[in-house]
Amino acid sequence: MKRSCSGPIQFLACVLILGLMTGCSDTIKTIESDNNAYQCSACQNKFYTGKDIFAACCPKCKSYELKEIVSYTCAQNHSNLAPRGSSVTCSTCGNSASRVQFPSEQALKEWGAAKASKAEVSKK
Ligand SMILES: [Zn+2]
Ligand SMILES: [Zn+2]
Repeated sequence: MKRSCSGPIQFLACVLILGLMTGCSDTIKTIESDNNAYQCSACQNKFYTGKDIFAACCPKCKSYELKEIVSYTCAQNHSNLAPRGSSVTCSTCGNSASRVQFPSEQALKEWGAAKASKAEVSKK
């Protein structure tokens, strides 16, 4: 006679694993959206770095004139990349985009930015 009494335990394990997975995906999301994005004022080069790397100069022309780029989001959640401190009108719906966020890596790639390494954006 083998009556399964492992049902509730398996269920509990599932809930625990699900909980862990949810926790994980939240962490990944935060890391992904946490890039530093820049546009060079001298050569208009667009680039971004990982979250712990702050660019000192342009990876292309080594100019120090960098504009920090952030994402301005409108009420309909359209993302518009622009230099920090600018007043932005949404390019998709025409409403004002005033919510400032870190741009996602996906948005940066679509915008035309290339990822730069720490060595590339450090002063010589
Ligand atoms: Zn440059
Ligand atoms: Zn919009």
